[in-house]
Amino acid sequence: ATYEVLASPLGEGGADGVTVAFSDITEREQVGQIRRDFVANVSHELKTPLTALLGFIETLKGPARDDAAARDRFLDIMLREATRMSRLISDLLSLSRVEAEERMRPEAQIDLAATLRGTVQALGTLAQAADVALILEGAEQPILVQGDSDQLTQVMENLIENGIKYGGTGGEVRVVVTQSARELAFRGPGVRVDVIDKGEGFDPVHIPRLTERFYRVDNHRSREMGGTGLGLAIVKHIVNRHRGRFRIDSTPGEGSTFSVMLPRITV
Ligand code: ADP
Repeated sequence: ATYEVLASPLGEGGADGVTVAFSDITEREQVGQIRRDFVANVSHELKTPLTALLGFIETLKGPARDDAAARDRFLDIMLREATRMSRLISDLLSLSRVEAEERMRPEAQIDLAATLRGTVQALGTLAQAADVALILEGAEQPILVQGDSDQLTQVMENLIENGIKYGGTGGEVRVVVTQSARELAFRGPGVRVDVIDKGEGFDPVHIPRLTERFYRVDNHRSREMGGTGLGLAIVKHIVNRHRGRFRIDSTPGEGSTFSVMLPRITV
């Protein structure tokens, strides 16, 4: 770093120049480090299921060739691992798309209430299978926001799916929509969607890191549930792109609330 400070033309400009050049380098180093960590994480996340797949293929070609029961069991596991890889790749593509688009504001007018009704209906089967009551409140009338319909659907899907996956032990997930005439953060009308579960929650020390790519409270549990560790990172970028705010609250033993606030269009 020292060499770069000296080599920088700004380095000759006195104390300020040095500071600027130095912070540039630090930032560049950080970006480089984040990129290296990301590549290492992705490689690891893909390699784990791939190693399992290769192992089972070897076994099926060799020792288990004539064992029908083992074959069925192994094929189930292989299907699960391949599905995990496929999901990871879809999430990576979503993430890189929303990161690239973050500076472009979406222009379409979307009825957020209709989006939420659709998402809740689509996730009904998942909720039922997990024995979770999925309840939507406050989305009867149209609520207009400026947005990307697919992306807002993805935000709501990720949060509700997480509520069912991790908070489902509480027996219910509530999606509560509240409109305000003047949201401080936007200095204008706003709409807030709270996804509330009564599950096990987590220690709030995790909150600042939960939107990092691949950060999980419980690695083993997330994998068991088929999680990629990218869901909340995608949510954060989409909400940013919509000029919104994203909040996480959790109390161990009581449950968690994930909240999205968006500017609302009034007519
Ligand atoms: P994943 O694919 O692992 O679910 P996410 O980015 O969606 O990745 O979530 C990151 C982590 O946050 C999860 O692994 C889980 O530990 C935690 N988490 C998310 N939602 C909840 C929730 N409703 N209750 C408890 N923990 C949650």
